[in-house]
Amino acid sequence: MTILLSTPFETITGLPIFIGYIFVFIIGAVIGSFLNVVIHRVPNEESIVFPGSACPKCGNAIAGYDNIPIVSWLLLRGKCRNCKVPISIRYPAVELLTALSFVLVFWKFGLDVLLPVGLIFVAVTIALMFIDAEHMILPNVITYPFFVFAFLVRIIYPIAFGTVFSDMVIGPMASMSGYPEWVVSLVGAILGALAGGGSLWLIGEVWMRARGVEAMGLGDVKMMLGFGALLGWRLALFSIFIAAFAGAVIGIAVIAKQKDKDFQSQIPFGIFLGVGSVIALLFGEQVIGWYMRTFVP
Ligand SMILES: [Zn+2]
Repeated sequence: MTILLSTPFETITGLPIFIGYIFVFIIGAVIGSFLNVVIHRVPNEESIVFPGSACPKCGNAIAGYDNIPIVSWLLLRGKCRNCKVPISIRYPAVELLTALSFVLVFWKFGLDVLLPVGLIFVAVTIALMFIDAEHMILPNVITYPFFVFAFLVRIIYPIAFGTVFSDMVIGPMASMSGYPEWVVSLVGAILGALAGGGSLWLIGEVWMRARGVEAMGLGDVKMMLGFGALLGWRLALFSIFIAAFAGAVIGIAVIAKQKDKDFQSQIPFGIFLGVGSVIALLFGEQVIGWYMRTFVP
């Protein structure tokens, strides 16, 4: 997924670009606040709408003025106003991470029609990463709708906006001249899903046959089916490569630290897949382009 043509923010709005960045940062922090609710409640199958936020210790409802992303946590010095129980730093961390991710996506996409898609992508990724870190699951209620969302984007965007996704100009989709753009995009999405989810599933199957232990959770596969559909096959493989590399480095560090434990059951791979996918979204095309120019004659 990449932008081939984008109108600068300044041209459209007449405002300096830093106003755009501040605005996107604030939107990101607010969405991050919502992601905290998702991360906290979805694994417990609770409603993400009702009831409003309350202190987990004393049950005191959190007032609007104490619920300002990042700011309130700092003002309250990380404690509940009522009972002074410490509030996890995870809350402002998720808000800040989402805000910064939104800024990066805006930097990459500008005021393009794909901007909301990029923002949804990183928001879903952050929710999945934090849920996986805490509960070792990637809930279907997030991965399934995202899979549908990815395919809808890949079909509707070429029709509605004439969007050309980056995988549509590389093989094998590049040779599909004569087909409508949305069909080319759909084929790209299917190949991307297979490259993302299919390859992970295959690795897991081979590993299980060879070692008799489950290496790959189906949650990882479902996550990468949707991510791969959106990113295309090349960026999907790039994501998995980054994830495997980062996972290996961290994995070795974890093994070194706690000798004889089975590290497979301890590392939520979704975190690495999430990081890899966001890097692929933001920088994948540039890195692959640089690699091709440098190492492929
Ligand atoms: Zn409290």
